[in-house]
Amino acid sequence: MAKPHIVILGAGLGGAIAAFEVKDAAGEKAEVSVVSQSDTFHFVPSNPWVAVHWRKRDAIEVKLPPVFKKRGIAFTGVGAKTVSPAKNQLELNDGNIIDYDYLVIATGPDLAFDEIPGLGPYGGFTQSVCHIDHAETAAAAFDKFVENPGPIVVGAVQGASCFGPAYEFAMILDT
Ligand SMILES: Cc1cc2nc3c(=O)[nH]c(=O)nc-3n(C[C@H](O)[C@H](O)[C@H](O)COP(=O)(O)OP(=O)(O)OC[C@H]3O[C@@H](n4cnc5c(N)ncnc54)[C@H](O)[C@@H]3O)c2cc1C
Repeated sequence: MAKPHIVILGAGLGGAIAAFEVKDAAGEKAEVSVVSQSDTFHFVPSNPWVAVHWRKRDAIEVKLPPVFKKRGIAFTGVGAKTVSPAKNQLELNDGNIIDYDYLVIATGPDLAFDEIPGLGPYGGFTQSVCHIDHAETAAAAFDKFVENPGPIVVGAVQGASCFGPAYEFAMILDT
């Protein structure tokens, strides 16, 4: 009989750790696969340090394929386009289909900069440390800021679910 296939969707803090735990628990009794949308893991809580050059990107980034290979976990970083629960299938961005018996969804937050006009790093007027790419953009803005410092506002907006980093970033800026 074929082994059950357990698929973890997303390889951030939730998905990567879930994959290790599931593989440890299932051992050889199941095939475990991870589908993420890039080949790298980022340690999100360190993004604020990247935004002030206390860390560079490579210090908080891990290449995932060798890590999962070592543990016997299959991995692709092409990303999932569609989940079809009725068929127990994932369609990937490259058109490939993955059949699963069990699916763990750990795709993280869907950042909603578009809900507030002018918010966010993509054409908006604010910086973000939600993603490593944003933190690198923020680091360039930080350099300009320190050339000619003035008042600076740090905050989170309506609907934000994670306030800690705003306080943390205010204290980092103060330091
Ligand atoms: C600046 C900052 C500081 C923080 N500091 C702390 C802290 O000190 N302590 C703490 O406990 N928490 C902290 N948090 C919160 C913590 O980082 C998050 O709770 C955690 O990263 C959420 O993990 P996750 O796996 O759900 O999502 P994420 O880490 O966002 O990972 C989601 C993954 O899913 C992938 N993905 C998304 N869509 C798809 C798709 N369609 N197909 C395939 N893959 C997909 C993404 O590429 C990503 O790899 C902080 C958060 C921020 C933003």
